[in-house]
Amino acid sequence: MQTPRKHIYIAYTGGTIGMMPSPAGLTPQPGMLEDKLRSMPEFTRKDMPEFTLHEYPTLLDSSDMSPQHWGIIAADILANYAHYDGFVVLHGTDTMAYTASALSFMLPDLGKPVIVTGSQIPLTALRSDGHDNLLNALYLAAYHPCAEVGLFFNHKLLRGNRSTKVNTSGFDAFDSPNSDPLFRVGIDVEPVLPPLRSLHSMQPEWQPVQNRAVAILTLYPGMDFSLARHLLEQDLDGLIVQTYGAGNAPQQPEFMAALHQACERNVVAVNHSQCLRGMVNMGGYAGGNALRDCGLVSAVDMTLEATLTKLHVLLSRPGDRKTVADMARRQMEKPLCGELSL
Ligand code: ASP
Repeated sequence: MQTPRKHIYIAYTGGTIGMMPSPAGLTPQPGMLEDKLRSMPEFTRKDMPEFTLHEYPTLLDSSDMSPQHWGIIAADILANYAHYDGFVVLHGTDTMAYTASALSFMLPDLGKPVIVTGSQIPLTALRSDGHDNLLNALYLAAYHPCAEVGLFFNHKLLRGNRSTKVNTSGFDAFDSPNSDPLFRVGIDVEPVLPPLRSLHSMQPEWQPVQNRAVAILTLYPGMDFSLARHLLEQDLDGLIVQTYGAGNAPQQPEFMAALHQACERNVVAVNHSQCLRGMVNMGGYAGGNALRDCGLVSAVDMTLEATLTKLHVLLSRPGDRKTVADMARRQMEKPLCGELSL
C-alpha cells in the first residue's frame, strides 16, 4: 500500500519572497505567490509534499510585525494543527528571528515541525534565494521533521529561538551563534543538533502573548545617565539592558539607583550582553556584580530576539504583578525550549 503524500500548511505572512518593485520600493503583492509556486513544476512533483497556502489578508513587511501578529500566527497553526503534517511560515527576514523565537515560547510542547523561512530576493526575480529556501523548508518539514520551531535559510535549519539575522544582503542572512544548526543541507541532509522532543500529534499547549511594556537599553561609552533614568522611571513591565562583555555596566550611582528602584517596582530587568557569542556572567567583575545586586537576572547566552520574546510571553502569564515578575525572573535563567545553554 502506498503511504499518502505528506501535506504541509504554508502560513504566508509577507516578506520579500512575495514582494514586487513599486515606486516606494519593494512591497508585498497580494494574490501572486500561490500562482507563482503552482507554475513551478518542482513544487508540485510527486516526491514533494502537497501544500496548502494560506495568504494572510494583509501581507506585511516584517518590520511591521508586533506581538499581536505572533499571536495570530500561533493561533493559525493551532487551528490547523490536526490536519497537516507540518507547517511553514513565510515571513520577511527583518524580524524573522523574533517571530521564530516567539512561536517557540508560545507553542512550548509542539509535536510537529514549524519552519519559518523567506528570502533576500523576491521569488519572481532572477537569482531569488526564495526558491531554494521554500523548497527545502517544505522538504524538511515533510521528510526530516523536527518537533520544534526551526528557521531555514541558506542550506541550514537553525533552532528558531537561537537564530539571529547577521547579514543584510548575503544569502547566509541567519546564524545561531551559540548553537549548532538542527540540520545542514548539502548533497545530504545532515542532522547536527538533536531535536528537543519526539514527534507527537497531541494538540500543543498554548502560551498567549500580549503586548507588554518592554524596553531595551543599550549601554555605550558617554551615555547620558539622566536619559537612562528617565526611561527607567516609566511604567515598564520588562527591561533588557544590553551590557558590555560578560554582562558589565558602568557603576554610575544615578544609573545603579534607577535600576535598583525599577527592580523594586517589579520591572523584570535582564542583563543581555552586546557580544554575539558566549554567556553573561555577572560574577566576574564588579560592574556585573553591581547589576546582580540591583536585581537584574541573566539572559545567559540567549539571542536578543529570544530574550525579548521570552520576556513578552512570560510577562503575559496571568497573576498579580509581583507573582508574575518573580516567576519571570526565575524562568528567564532556565531553558524552556532549547533557547539557552545550561
Ligand atoms: N523588509 C523585508 C521584511 O522583513 C526584508 C525581507 O523579507 O528580506 O519583510
